[in-house]
Amino acid sequence: MGRRDIPIDVSATYDVAVIGGGASGLAAAFCAARAGARVAVLERDVFCGLPILATGNGRCNLSNTNLDPARYRHPDVARAVMGPDPEREVADLTDAWGIVTCSIDDRLYPFSRRAESVRDALLAACARQGVELCCGLDLVEASYERAAGGAEGQGAWNLVVEGPERPLRGKRGGDFHADLRARRRDLKQTPRVRHTVAARSVIIACGGSSLAMASCFGLPHIEERPVLCPVACSIDDRSRALAALDGLRVDARLTLLHDGIETWREAGEVLFRPYGVSGIVAFDLSRRALPGDEVVLDPFYTFSPEELDSLMSRRASALAPLTPGNPSWYDGFLARPLAELLTELGTTTIRLRVQGTADERVAQVRAGGIPFEAVDVPSLRISSSAAPYLFACGEALDMDADCGGFNLAWAWLSGKRAGESAAQAATRG
Ligand SMILES: Cc1cc2nc3c(=O)[nH]c(=O)nc-3n(C[C@H](O)[C@H](O)[C@H](O)COP(=O)(O)OP(=O)(O)OC[C@H]3O[C@@H](n4cnc5c(N)ncnc54)[C@H](O)[C@@H]3O)c2cc1C
Repeated sequence: MGRRDIPIDVSATYDVAVIGGGASGLAAAFCAARAGARVAVLERDVFCGLPILATGNGRCNLSNTNLDPARYRHPDVARAVMGPDPEREVADLTDAWGIVTCSIDDRLYPFSRRAESVRDALLAACARQGVELCCGLDLVEASYERAAGGAEGQGAWNLVVEGPERPLRGKRGGDFHADLRARRRDLKQTPRVRHTVAARSVIIACGGSSLAMASCFGLPHIEERPVLCPVACSIDDRSRALAALDGLRVDARLTLLHDGIETWREAGEVLFRPYGVSGIVAFDLSRRALPGDEVVLDPFYTFSPEELDSLMSRRASALAPLTPGNPSWYDGFLARPLAELLTELGTTTIRLRVQGTADERVAQVRAGGIPFEAVDVPSLRISSSAAPYLFACGEALDMDADCGGFNLAWAWLSGKRAGESAAQAATRG
């Protein structure tokens, strides 16, 4: 599935054109087509759905059993767009796409545990609805042509797209990755031509690099920055102390302090790196921590202060008093490198100063994008008279969330909302 490049129909006026065929764009296209619209997806890469393949380490953590709005950058917007029962809405969509899910703790995965089965099911569902997937196309210009006499409802967008002058050549009989590489190579080498595509409604679903698209449509834009990645931080006056802990994983709680005031806390596995901390809890921290903030790492968070005091006293009686420079006191309790650091600091917690994000190549999402001030919620219609019949969804908007399936849940449900709104606007004016 997904290797179909239906040439765009330049003689038609589509009801809905979706710019970007990733998670939110495919959800939007499916929902718009299901609502009766003729839909084209304009995707710059050689296939649609490719971003889904990398999710969840190839297993696709596609949602969460508790889609708490507080896990999103704008909880009120998330609540309004995703509705009062978002878990049910995601389940309705996955049912419609034929995806059987299972949960591991509170994370939802496809039963197959394979991201490609999510992508394939979604592409098959789009095909059943007659969605036209047009790949290798870059949007270069967009203008709205109002109907003669200014009757706004009958106008259309003219989308100037640039694409290869002939269908792309793949690698037949090869594996998917060989085919993908061959097509991408061909896309680069093939001369490009411009087409104009007409559509009554347009949905921006281009993902987390939306500046060019926002400029194309004359929209405001909040600068993007990669998040859900490691955090660079160090101990004041001991900038190299974490190097000794590199690669150590501990179950700990991170508490974030901004100007000394606690703003967030979360517990889970923390991976020490020479430059700071990584792992899921650190990824969630990266969405919130600012340079100069302080983070308290507590490896004993599962004990109450009283329990910890009592445990330490009992150990001191049974072993010997805890003295500085005697990390072996923690043998049987803590990993040695952590014990060395704690005995050197003379504390039971580690206070870290944040420098910023680190290793952004592994970032899972980008904060920033088209601001909600420019968008009607919950329809996700752009509220500018200069850009009528324009909608946005997914990461193109200024929305990001914690690890755990929250970002894909936003992609599916914001795509659904934008797709249904765009179809309704196009077919009913
Ligand atoms: C490594 C990794 C792992 C992740 N794992 C998870 C996970 O397990 N669970 C989870 O919830 N989230 C995960 N995420 C985040 C999740 O993938 C995103 O939140 C989600 O894909 C966003 O959907 P989107 O449709 O907005 O953007 P995308 O899925 O990125 O799709 C955007 C699409 O638009 C296309 N495009 C861009 N510009 C143009 C243009 N000008 N013209 C035409 N097409 C264009 C792109 O080629 C792309 O296909 C992960 C992200 C990464 C990077």
